[in-house]
Formats: sequence, C-alpha cells, structure tokens
Amino acid sequence: MPRNRRTVLACRPGVNGEPRPENFRTEDCGYPVVQDGKVLAKTLFLSVDPYMRCRMNEDTGSHYLSPWQLDHACEGGGVGVVIDSKHKDFHPGDYVETWVWPWQEYSQVSPEGLRKLDPTLFGSRLSLALGALGMPGATALVGIRERGHVTPGANQTFVVSGAAGACGSLAGQIARLEGAANIVGICGSEEKCRLLMEELGFDHAVNYRTDNVADRLKEACPRGVDSYFDNVGGEISETVIKQMNEGSHVILCGQISVYNKDVPYPPPLPQEVTDILKERNITRERFLIMNYLDKFEESGIQLAKWIQEGKLKVKETVVEGIEKTGEAFVSMMKGGNVGKMIVHVADP
Ligand code: NDP
Repeated sequence: MPRNRRTVLACRPGVNGEPRPENFRTEDCGYPVVQDGKVLAKTLFLSVDPYMRCRMNEDTGSHYLSPWQLDHACEGGGVGVVIDSKHKDFHPGDYVETWVWPWQEYSQVSPEGLRKLDPTLFGSRLSLALGALGMPGATALVGIRERGHVTPGANQTFVVSGAAGACGSLAGQIARLEGAANIVGICGSEEKCRLLMEELGFDHAVNYRTDNVADRLKEACPRGVDSYFDNVGGEISETVIKQMNEGSHVILCGQISVYNKDVPYPPPLPQEVTDILKERNITRERFLIMNYLDKFEESGIQLAKWIQEGKLKVKETVVEGIEKTGEAFVSMMKGGNVGKMIVHVADP
C-alpha cells in the first residue's frame, strides 16, 4: 500500500490573528479502505482560498461553512483521479473534483457533489477546475453578469481590487470581454501591476502599497467609476466608492482586508461612505457564488471557450507537495500568489 499523508489543522490562529504555517501540520495517516457507495481517489491538486480563513475559527460566522476540526485533515476544493470505486457512476481513471476534498494524498471521497471533469473542457490542465473553470472563474463571470451592469458601447469604467488574484485577474479580463471600455486593477506589487498591463490587457494598474490610491484612480478614471468588483474591502474600497458615479454598481465579492479581524461580514462602512452609496444610488448587495450553482455549467462552458480562443488568459501560482498546503494558504492570504494559488500534490 502506498504511504499516505494528510495536512491537519494543528492550532487556530485566533479570530484576530494572522494565519501562520505553524497552524498546520502534515503527518502520516492510514490508507483508506473504500466503503460501499464511496470512491477512493488520489489527490492531484488542492485549492487554497480566502474563505478558508473563517474555517480556521471555532465559529466561522457563516451558516454555510463549518469550522475545520483540530487534528483532522483540512478540506476544500480538490481534484483527483479515481483509483477504486464502489459507486456505480464513478470508475477508476475518472478525473473528479469536489469542494470538500480532504488535504490528504489518498482519501475516500463522498460521491455527493463529486463532479467528473469533462476532458473537452479541461484538456490536460486539470487545475483549471479549481480556478478559471471552477469557483473563482464562476464568481468572476456570474458576479459581473448578475451585479456589474456592464453594457457594451456605454464607455464604462470598471475597477477591480485584488486584481492580480484568482477572481480579480479574470474579472478585469471578463469585464473587457463583456464590453467595459476602461479596465483598472488595484493590487499589491509592481510585478502584479506589470502583469495586469502587459499580459492581461488592463488599461491602468494601481499599487495600493506604494501609490496614492485616490490620486491614481482620479487619473485612471477621469469619467468616474461605473462598476467596482470588490475583493478586498477596507480603505481601498472606501477610496474607490468615493469616485463612483451616480447609479453605479459594486459587485460585493469579498473583503479579504478584514478576514483576520473579528468583524461581521460585510464589515460596517464609515457613515460618509454609507451616505455616498445612498445619495448616488449605488447598488452594493452581497454576492455569493453558492447562490448561483445553477449557472456553474453555463459559465464553465463560456470561460473554457474564451480560454480556447485565447481571449482569456489564466495565471496560476503552483506550490509543490501536500506538506506545503498550509504555507501556500498563508502565502496567498498575504499576496504571495499571482492568479490562482494551487498546490500540486501528485501526478496521476
Ligand atoms: P486571490 O487569489 O485574490 O488571493 C488573495 C489576494 O488578496 C492576495 O493575493 C492579495 O493580493 C490580496 N490581499 C490580501 N490581503 C489584502 C489586503 N489587506 N488588502 C488588499 N488586498 C489584499 O483570492 P481569490 O481570488 O480566491 O478571492 C478574492 C476575493 O474574492 C476574496 O475576498 C474572497 O473571499 C472572495 N471570493 C468570494 C466569492 C463569493 O462567492 N462571493 C467566491 C470566491 C472568492 P495583493 O498582492 O494584491 O495584496
């Protein structure tokens, strides 16, 4: 039997603490025996995502997410290959994905929510199931279509924060494909700004760590902001909202700048910003991709088509080895990724 290892939650960072690699531990574990109705799979790729930060707390503060248990394998998005099956719909050799994949090299996975990967969409790039053709891609596309009000020919300015990350790097490109005229990305390094401008076709890039965000936005958005894809919240988003137009739209995707703070979601805004939203009739409803599962298939087909046509570029940062999963998560939370942060665990 092959050796088996898993990455467990070793200790919690505390609701106001930054996650650290020491919060995780990788250890040997037993090799699973597949039970009736279940599937035994070898893990190929794991996803680390910002929402996992609340699963590190005892209380996630969210009705749809349960806390990770101490000394148990963490779980999240994963891709693997079936090596044994006692379920009629899955067979050895099938490539599969689920949102509740254990951080473990070989595991028994439950068929509920297990999705077979269509080779015509993924080709040999199975990790796309965790990024552009998975939850982040769907979030970017459905978020824009449901909340962005992007109208071709309307000369709109679209701003995205967290712009070099998994959702953000796609959102800026998708907004262009959907018809926005001026695409502006906000992110945390010069390297990321260059990527946005030189590779991903953004018109302007703002480095929030070194630039005066308000001044740079004024230059980049002379006609004001029509849609804002908000991945980060906090001061950056307050600055953007102050430059938004009458009747414009915030796609309230995430608020990563406060994920290490014990505040409700979405966190309360300063009165001045709340007043602006009201006076200018700016929409800002919470967006949650889990509420649009019926749009997943259709959005995957659209995104795959754009990728195949060369219209949508996909960036990934790949970390090697299950023992690095915790570090990959911690690094992503601090901006160590360009595009989707992925852990490569094994080849098929
Ligand atoms: P990313 O790939 O964008 O990784 C997170 C990025 O956040 C980092 O790379 C870092 O980039 C940036 N960041 C970290 N801390 C801060 C900070 N204090 N201020 C500004 N930027 C910061 O992650 P995802 O694309 O997976 O997720 C992006 C957002 O979308 C998150 O808020 C997430 O919760 C949300 N989300 C929401 C979904 C929904 O259904 N609503 C679904 C999926 C994601 P940098 O170097 O630029 O700082």
